[in-house]
Amino acid sequence: MSKPDICCQNLAAGCRSPFEVTMIGWYDGVTSGMARCRVCGRTYFFDMLAWDDEHEMRVYGFREISQRSYESFMAIQSRSPPDAESHDDLLAVRDALATSMECLLYVAATDLTRRIDGFSLLTFASWAELLRLR
Ligand SMILES: [Zn+2]
Repeated sequence: MSKPDICCQNLAAGCRSPFEVTMIGWYDGVTSGMARCRVCGRTYFFDMLAWDDEHEMRVYGFREISQRSYESFMAIQSRSPPDAESHDDLLAVRDALATSMECLLYVAATDLTRRIDGFSLLTFASWAELLRLR
């Protein structure tokens, strides 16, 4: 029997990725996209924040978005061909991304669909410490 997948809420460095990924941006690898946790079903928009000198190890910020936003985005993506110029589509994407402002989950990976190399949950308190706010 195979091991149960680890949920996005219980990531560990070196664990198998629980994410189904839909790419939005690409530069030698994924730079942004949508992700869905196969275990709990949480849905996210993610964006690349940093990379190593080889552009292989990348750090992504994950913002949780509503199930509804995720599904409306996926419906647009699955249309062939997707109409990038459609005003309604652009509005739907904007609305999907606006459902969450805060980025709490940070993930490092060379391939987000395969393996999680590192992760952290950063709250405002974490940022305040990092940026030496008082
Ligand atoms: Zn999960």
